[in-house]
Amino acid sequence: MRKSLLSKKITLMTILIGVLCSSVMVFILSRIFFDEKDLHSLLIILPFIILTSVIVCLVSLRFLFVNPVRRLTDESKNISENDWKFISPVTSDDEIGVLGNIIESMSRKLREVLSSHDKNIKRLDSVNQSLSKMNSIVDNSQDLTAVLSPDWEITYANKNFLNTFGENAIDSNFDDCYRDKFPDEFEPLTKIITEKLATESLWESEVKSADNVVPICELFQTVYKYIDESGDFVSYIYSAQNTFQGSEHNEKMAWLAYYDHLTGLQNRTYFKNQLEKELLSVKREDSLIALLYLDLDNFKMINDSMGHEAGDQLLITAAERLTKCLREEDSIARLGGDEFAIILTGIDAVHYASIVANKIIRALNQPVYIDGQGLSIKASLGITIAPQDGMGSAELMKNADVAMYEAKQKGKNSFRFFTPDMDRNVANRVQKEHEIQSAFENQEFILYYQPKVNVRTGEVDSAEALVRWQSPDGKIRAPVEFIDIIENGDLIIPFGLWVIRSGCQQAKTLYKSLRRRILISVNVSPRQLMAPGFVSSVENVIKEVGVDPSLIELEITESLFMDNLSQTIEHLSALRALGLRISVDDFGTGFSSLSYLKRLPIDQLKIDRSFIMDIPGDEEDCVITELIITMAQRLSLEVVAEGVETKEQFQYLQGMDCDLIQGYLFSKPLPPDEFMVYVFNGVQKSIFNQNCSG
Ligand code: C2E
Ligand code: MG
Ligand code: MG
Repeated sequence: MRKSLLSKKITLMTILIGVLCSSVMVFILSRIFFDEKDLHSLLIILPFIILTSVIVCLVSLRFLFVNPVRRLTDESKNISENDWKFISPVTSDDEIGVLGNIIESMSRKLREVLSSHDKNIKRLDSVNQSLSKMNSIVDNSQDLTAVLSPDWEITYANKNFLNTFGENAIDSNFDDCYRDKFPDEFEPLTKIITEKLATESLWESEVKSADNVVPICELFQTVYKYIDESGDFVSYIYSAQNTFQGSEHNEKMAWLAYYDHLTGLQNRTYFKNQLEKELLSVKREDSLIALLYLDLDNFKMINDSMGHEAGDQLLITAAERLTKCLREEDSIARLGGDEFAIILTGIDAVHYASIVANKIIRALNQPVYIDGQGLSIKASLGITIAPQDGMGSAELMKNADVAMYEAKQKGKNSFRFFTPDMDRNVANRVQKEHEIQSAFENQEFILYYQPKVNVRTGEVDSAEALVRWQSPDGKIRAPVEFIDIIENGDLIIPFGLWVIRSGCQQAKTLYKSLRRRILISVNVSPRQLMAPGFVSSVENVIKEVGVDPSLIELEITESLFMDNLSQTIEHLSALRALGLRISVDDFGTGFSSLSYLKRLPIDQLKIDRSFIMDIPGDEEDCVITELIITMAQRLSLEVVAEGVETKEQFQYLQGMDCDLIQGYLFSKPLPPDEFMVYVFNGVQKSIFNQNCSG
């Protein structure tokens, strides 16, 4: 029979109470039976008896309760300090002894659990090691392996699978992924596999990718269902071997066939396929795509003037900047020359396309340093949206091209969205280009001459050659109707040379007939000036015609200088070395600074008509005109005011000490024979006298 702690407590208490009661009894009996003296000695003995009993009780309490509990606590502490070897220090059969035994058996059980847990961990470690070995083997295997969920989502794919089907394959749907690689397979593959695996354990098939899909592959593929131990269908396992015998050379050839070797971007062929694929997704998913067509504005000029290496560098930089503006899922290609195309996929708003277009223009406009020269890349972009503007790849490419052309027409370095009426404009433009080309071949262009009159003497100093188109019906058309088309097309080179030749001939004729030096100014377009061989072709014309080169002046618009200063200086210096004079046309409309002008090898500034128009009434224009005249005088440049129509304008400019006046006040541009008569008769002289202030 186990003795409980309570019974021990009762025994102790009983002893204590017994001792106390017997003491009290002894005391009472002593009072009755003993005399005073004996009672006295008893009173002295009694507390000793009581004290001895209490001490006996306390000592028993310590041995019976406190010591076993302390031993138990000390041992239990070891458990908390991870020493599981607990052996109960209490052997008694009371509750403390029982508790010690319970703790001992618990610690034993825990020891067993822990040791089996350790074994499990070791076993798991070794399983993990084997798994990671397996994983690395599967991951690096030559085969393509993927694990697909029952609803065909790719949950795992090894490296070769990702290399073939794309880095984004994981988590995507197998059909989508497969269709990207094998766009010709129209029926969803998963449907075919599901049907096959309903009756058989394995699906097998062979497939070859189209030649334009890099890397090329020829797959022998299998799919089976993975059923786990409890019989549940967990996943599909896809495995394939690439049997394509592609050598590195073949791969390279394929790459070259579909990628641009300079920029590494897709080429036109690849891009077209890509666009068609995206259009299929638009149909399937009812989504939108934007097609952007981009053409660099100043590329031809830079390429011509700075050489092809600089041009290549510019294209590479442009390609890098464009790529940085796009997301991974967008496509970009170099279509050829300085033309690029971009597909923005999955756009939910047309607005997004304009955000990207703005971003592209800003990124391109950042300065690029080539051969130590800072240039800024400018571009015009056309944007078309599918399906709203069309669903055919050719149609969309044409739309984007048309919109790009519109952006070029409306000031360049900007973008335009396609609208159907742009299409009509382009049709008109193509028609016009044809007409202009044949007009040039049929010699329907003639030069008119407009005098520049000396403000001090009233003599005709020079004349500007201004082209007119005289069609067979006798109609005369001004440059505003055709000069842009000529300047932006290839015709500008032969046309420009024709203008120079005709101007030289006219200067020579005037000199021969009038025995007077009347300079002829010829307008030269920026592209003409920067074209390779321009200087030598001018030299040849001068020699051929036999004109004194100091009778020829070239007018070049101010805006040109901003684009490429050092090249411009080089070309202008060479022309000046031939003996020609250089005039800066439309001065004030660009951004020339004084320091800028000082570096240019020039002889004359022509104040743009827009400043002359409102003088002397408009105070601001008066200030600008005055400033330009003062600046020209400081730099020892001749200054011409163009577009002078009134006596007031003339008198104001005379007061400012302007050198030359050109404008309707003296004469409109005249056909060559009328101009000859004009000068011969000194028509300007009487106008001069009528308008002079003095
Ligand atoms: P520009 O070189 O600034 O020529 C001056 C233009 O102002 C000429 O127009 C001239 O007729 C016009 N003009 C002159 N005085 C007055 C005036 O008092 N009032 C008004 N309202 N206009 C005046 P045009 O002949 O129509 O030529 C226009 C532009 O076409 C020229 O501007 C020039 O940039 C270009 N251009 C003309 N001929 C040629 C050429 O042979 N080659 C090239 N590349 N461009 C040319
Ligand atoms: Mg001019
Ligand atoms: Mg002008």
